[in-house]
Amino acid sequence: MYPYFSNNPYGANSKEATTEKNKIESGEMRKCPECAELVIREARICRFCGYKLYPKPLIQEQEIEEFTRKQALRPN
Ligand SMILES: [Zn+2]
Repeated sequence: MYPYFSNNPYGANSKEATTEKNKIESGEMRKCPECAELVIREARICRFCGYKLYPKPLIQEQEIEEFTRKQALRPN
């Protein structure tokens, strides 16, 4: 009758925590810098606190890091 409950012998909370960690590691979710709640990576605004999360900030950070590294290699 309730297949979802019978598939979850460890309880909702522990299973959810593992899923959240996996989602962060896979890049599907990320943590809001303001409230530390998990939000979908594509979200523009945190659904918990309303903090403005712009899309794909991780890629921007990587690009900046790469740019800095290239600059460090060049003397000028
Ligand atoms: Zn938040």
